[in-house]
Amino acid sequence: MKFQSTLFQFFLPPQCPCCETFMEEGEEGFCSNCLSEIHWIEPPFCSICGIPFISKEVENHPCGTCLTHRKYFTIARALGAYERSLQEAIHRWKYKGKVHLTSYFTNWMADGLIHYWGLESLQLLIPVPLHPQRLRERGFNQALLLVRELSRRTGIPYEKRILQKKKPTVPQVNLSGAEREKELRGAFLVSRQEDLEGKVVLLVDDVYTTGATVNECSKVLLRGGAKRVDVLTLAHALKTSSFGI
Ligand SMILES: [Zn+2]
Ligand SMILES: [Zn+2]
Repeated sequence: MKFQSTLFQFFLPPQCPCCETFMEEGEEGFCSNCLSEIHWIEPPFCSICGIPFISKEVENHPCGTCLTHRKYFTIARALGAYERSLQEAIHRWKYKGKVHLTSYFTNWMADGLIHYWGLESLQLLIPVPLHPQRLRERGFNQALLLVRELSRRTGIPYEKRILQKKKPTVPQVNLSGAEREKELRGAFLVSRQEDLEGKVVLLVDDVYTTGATVNECSKVLLRGGAKRVDVLTLAHALKTSSFGI
């Protein structure tokens, strides 16, 4: 019986990793329905944090939030909006153990990295770290999964020990901007400073939500000797005050 069920599986068409419907012939990666739901981020967007603007009539320029709140990173870029099928896929990947989605995500992210930076300008990839306690709960650091694979695909080295999270922080969804900054202050530290000195760093995470975490990480990395810090995330949450300005 076991042989039969294995054989049966062999003839089943592959499933979409996002919605798990069986794929049509010729479909690869995500099914065409899930793919069509992804809102890929294209210009015009904020020249600093990368949030897309609703109006298509403008050129890239700094958004309201970036004009009033200092950003320590130079530019942040993301592949898609954190909504619908992309949000669902990230959720499955992060909380439901669908780690095979890493290869789809890093395919897109490697394209984005090459598009926005090229392969020559970046010297080091660094994942946004998790506090050891959170790491034990989840079992893996999603940013490290992305960085490892991105490094393999682009040949740019990565370092997971330079940036560490020394203080656990509460989820930031319900905090105001000022509370978020206060909560994150002192949460990260740099070790092995000699490996960071003078480097152009790309900080990597799965989702850019308010930017508070990557901003605090960027500040710490610059103080630790990095020459410049940029940010690449798979998705950018659109529900922030800057959307559409
Ligand atoms: Zn699908
Ligand atoms: Zn911005």
